[in-house]
This record gives sequence, C-alpha cells and structure tokens, in this order.
Amino acid sequence: KEFDNIDLHSSLKKFFGFSQFKGLQEEVIKNVLRQNNTFVIMPTGGGKSLCYQLPALMQDGTAIIVSPLIALMKNQVDAIRGVSSEIGIAHVLNSSLNKGEIKQVKQDITNGITKLLYVAPESLTKEENVEFLRSVKVSFVAVDEAHCISEWGHDFRPEYRNLKSIVERLGENIPIIGLTATATPKVQEDIIKNLGIGGAKLFKASFNRPNLFYEVRTKTENIEADIIRFVKQNSGKSGIIYCLSRKKVEELAQVLQVNGVSAVPYHAGFDAKTRSKYQDMFLMEDVDVVVATIAFGMGIDKPDVRFVIHHDIPKSIESYYQETGRAGRDGGEGHCLAYYSYKDIEKLEKFMSGKPVAEQEIGNALLQEVVAYAETSMSRRKFMLHYFGEEFDDVNGDGAEMDDNTRNPKEKEEAKDNVEK
Ligand code: ADP
Ligand code: MG
Repeated sequence: KEFDNIDLHSSLKKFFGFSQFKGLQEEVIKNVLRQNNTFVIMPTGGGKSLCYQLPALMQDGTAIIVSPLIALMKNQVDAIRGVSSEIGIAHVLNSSLNKGEIKQVKQDITNGITKLLYVAPESLTKEENVEFLRSVKVSFVAVDEAHCISEWGHDFRPEYRNLKSIVERLGENIPIIGLTATATPKVQEDIIKNLGIGGAKLFKASFNRPNLFYEVRTKTENIEADIIRFVKQNSGKSGIIYCLSRKKVEELAQVLQVNGVSAVPYHAGFDAKTRSKYQDMFLMEDVDVVVATIAFGMGIDKPDVRFVIHHDIPKSIESYYQETGRAGRDGGEGHCLAYYSYKDIEKLEKFMSGKPVAEQEIGNALLQEVVAYAETSMSRRKFMLHYFGEEFDDVNGDGAEMDDNTRNPKEKEEAKDNVEK
C-alpha cells in the first residue's frame, strides 16, 4: 500500500494529536512503511515509540513490539487505547493473563483489530505463542530497548538473543526495527549482528545536549562543604545528587538538612510508600534537592531540574549521560557536576571482582572510559559525543563553551598561577 506525506501527517494528527514529527521520526516511519529493516538510535525522550506505533496503526496486520518491562508496555497500551474507540487495538501478551484474556487477545489479532501486540521476550519464545503468531499476519517486529541484546549495554538480557530465530519462524521477510538510546559502537554492532539487520538503514539522532554544562571536580575530604556551597549558590533550584550507596544517600541528605538545605533521600531500601512520598515532595517542589541512588530517575520527568551532582563517579559514560540527561529537559540551564577520585574507581573495580570474568572485563573497559573522561583536558562534550560515535565541532558546535575544560583551559590556568606567583 502506498502512502504519502498527507497520509502520514493526517494519521499523526488523528492518532496522536501532534501536528509535526519530531527529529527523524518521519524518515524512520517512511522506511518502516516501505517494509525495510530499520535501526533507530535516539536519546531518551527522542520519540522512538512513535516510530513503530504510527506505522503499526497505518498498516494491515499486527505489529509485535518486544519490550523488556511490563510497566512500560502497560503505559503504552493504555496510551494507544486512548486514541481509538477499539480497546483491542493494542494488547499485551504475557504470563499474567488468564485463559479468557488470552482467548480475547488471540481473537482480536485474528480479526485484524489488534495493530500493536506488546510482548516480553520470554513470552515470545513460548512455543504456543510462536505457533499462534505464525498463523496470523504480522506487519513487522519492533525490538524496543534493543541494547538488551548486548553485554556491552547497561541492561543485558539473554532472552533478547533468541529474537532473530523466532522472527524467522513467524513468516518470510518480516521487517525488523531495532530501537535504542544506547549509541556506543560496540552495542550497535551487537544489535545489528544479533537481529540480523546488517542491511538496515540506520537513523541516528544527535546525543548532544547543548544546554548542559559539564564539570568534573577532584574529590577531596571537603566534598560535603563543597556540595553545600554549590547547592546554596543555586538555592531555590531543583537538583539531584547521586551517591553510590544507600548509606551515603542518607548521610548526605542529613548533612544538607542540618545545613539548611531542603533535601530528601531516595533509594530502593525505603518502602514503596516512603519512596513515592519523597519523590512527590521533589516533583511538587516541597524540597529543592533529592539525594539518591540510581534507583531514582527512571521515568521521572521533571522538566526544570537545574543540576545533577555525582558524589561518586558512575560506572560508565552511558550511565553518566543518562543520569545527567535528567537536567535541563526544558531546554534551560543544567549543571552537571561530577566528583572524581581514583580511589572511587578502585572501589568500583572491587565491586566487580566477584563477577564472572567476561563481565569484569567489560566492566573494567567501561570504567577506563570514565577515568579518561574525568582526566581529560579536552572538551567534555566532545569526549562524550565521540564515545557515542559522534564528531563534535568544539569551536562552532552547539554548546561548545559549555564545560569546565573549554571555559578554563588547563594551560591558561597554569599560566595564571605562574603570573600570580
Ligand atoms: P523515547 O522512547 O525515545 O525515550 P518516547 O517515545 O517515550 O521517547 O517519547 C517521548 C515523548 O515525546 C513522549 O511524551 C511523546 O508523547 C513525545 N512525542 C513523541 N513524538 C512527538 C511529536 N511528533 N510531537 C510532540 N511530541 C512527541
Ligand atoms: Mg522508549
């Protein structure tokens, strides 16, 4: 079936109420509608879901969406159902359904009502589901969070490795769309290899966040005083402070409170009620600062977070990018400050020493990149983007002046010191 720009835009409006595509969406969607394999790399919040939702809604048959998280699937299904009078337009197929529900899902698919079927990889590997899906028209298979295929990604899931062979069983030439926010070349290679989408067209959005300022400070015994000073200079602004351990989270939150900073702690050791209380206090701006482990942030969409401080350096550049990415979502300023000492790197290495050798090797390689980032004297933005396979023009690029090294080059600092001496 042919499509044109008018079709695309009116469908976008009709199903989602948007009048414009974001970034590369339109090009991606055209490629999908042409039945091609497609590989989409966009940062979190880039609008990847629409890249498979819209073509699924526009085509005959059912699109299968592989996604690792049940909560994510449920949100998406609810959202899609909101745009249609037909509840069966989107379904989740998983082990939590009872027999009657499974029958309904299968009936809706067979009757051509269901345009999007969300499945966890382990449900897709079930023989009875494969047998059923072989008998219906599948428009394409989208593999969301495709980095789960790779041991070099931050969320490796072995079940993702079997997807290709299952898709092959579902029918001939079913297009595959891989989507991820992980842009490192190694992860990219693994995805292409494992999904067998070597010929796929790659759509990669820039990972540059021009409004974020990147800074690294040497970690000393004065770190707490330094953080307090920073937060007070930014009083009234929202910020997140990440710590490695739950103990440190609680200690630092208390130190801040004692020093007159409104702060709450957050980590997975609190019960659900306490966690959501503290989270709400931060979102509703009853407090300025949340001191947290990495348990905080997934799915948090506070647009005006003005700073993200890392009390402890994270275990990979990708984690750092994700965590700092929570600053400045509204396009306003976002100060990303990381404290670094080599001792912390040794601590992280020690954490890994109990793990299988292969995992340790990967973990150490990722950690060495963090060391290089912390110790570099080049533009931190350039460094980070290079890590994601992107060339950044540090003279004319967007955000070119927005890091400590560019603003205060090391040689100049030394020269100044000499003059002062
Ligand atoms: P990702 O999966 O890349 O992290 P999502 O698919 O969750 O991103 O989309 C992020 C946000 O962008 C969502 O709130 C979505 O509604 C919004 N969005 C997506 N496409 C558009 C568009 N064309 N116009 C406006 N908002 C959009
Ligand atoms: Mg997504």
